[in-house]
Amino acid sequence: MCIGRMKETTTDGTKRKETPRDILARFMAEQEMRKTPERFAILDVVMRMKGHHSADEILTMMPQDFPVSRGTIYSTLALLVECGLAYNHQTEGATLYECAFNKQPHHHYICTGCHKIWDLQDSAIEQTVSKVKTPRFKKLRCSTYIYGLCNVCQAKLARVKKKIEKQKEINMTREEKRFARINEELAKAAEWFKEN
Ligand SMILES: [Zn+2]
Ligand SMILES: [Zn+2]
Repeated sequence: MCIGRMKETTTDGTKRKETPRDILARFMAEQEMRKTPERFAILDVVMRMKGHHSADEILTMMPQDFPVSRGTIYSTLALLVECGLAYNHQTEGATLYECAFNKQPHHHYICTGCHKIWDLQDSAIEQTVSKVKTPRFKKLRCSTYIYGLCNVCQAKLARVKKKIEKQKEINMTREEKRFARINEELAKAAEWFKEN
């Protein structure tokens, strides 16, 4: 990760930290890649965006006068992850990206109902992981995803449960059936979290 090698540069005579554009340019030079304006335009969008977004969402955020192909979006996002300027997260629905520049690694919780993802900062996770033994293996970092149901989806689930109680499963939509399966999983989770 080139972010770890972030260094002071003195190109303009004064000491300054590398900008995201400097980091990407240096990384592409090291890899002997072409420094296309499209890649820098995608970088600018990712550096400005808040939260976690799919490649398709990022495509819609591109400036109107700067059309880029889907392939370029995917390859550039992979590049940004490789040089430490973006994080990627595999949710059940999609791969989501977020800006990693000046942002500490952190944990997440994900709703399995609507696939929304939230940041989670809890030093208890690091403390627990620091105690976990990994023989002949040096820990670098850890990233935890807690899966569950957000309050909007909990309300949806309550409606599905009513249908189940009235034995109206036959009329259930595909999404409602998915929620019925999540309900079964929730029952198991209650046992699991009690046991552990
Ligand atoms: Zn949800
Ligand atoms: Zn995040």
